[in-house]
Amino acid sequence: MSLMLRPHHGLCIHNFVGKGYSEAFTANMKTVIAHLAQQDPLFTLAKGEDVLCAACPHNKTECESAAKVRKFDSEVLRLCGLQPGDTLKWSEFAALVDSRILAAGEFSTVCASCEWYQTCQAIVNHE
Ligand code: SF4
Repeated sequence: MSLMLRPHHGLCIHNFVGKGYSEAFTANMKTVIAHLAQQDPLFTLAKGEDVLCAACPHNKTECESAAKVRKFDSEVLRLCGLQPGDTLKWSEFAALVDSRILAAGEFSTVCASCEWYQTCQAIVNHE
């Protein structure tokens, strides 16, 4: 089975500086990010939970923020012109996130209601 990533996790990965919900969560983030950077693999845009959600302490039986993060996912897909289930290279997706969301000033359109928004906005603004 191919690697699955939620669309909005393209932004979370971009803004990751080692903070997260738990030690296991951040360790898994680091492993996944290293794999993406080193292998530039093909991956599939997930409709629901993915390889990062798998280590999240707020996803024991189901995601505690499911409705909110579904909206983040659909905004990322709309802005990038993609569909759930699309398969593409990590570098292609990262370039779309960069040009169509971050460089286009659309970061707050996706992420304004996230609890990490202030932290991530500071990273986006200081690039
Ligand atoms: S604000 Fe939230 S959803 Fe957006 S990149 Fe940061 S952690 Fe991810």
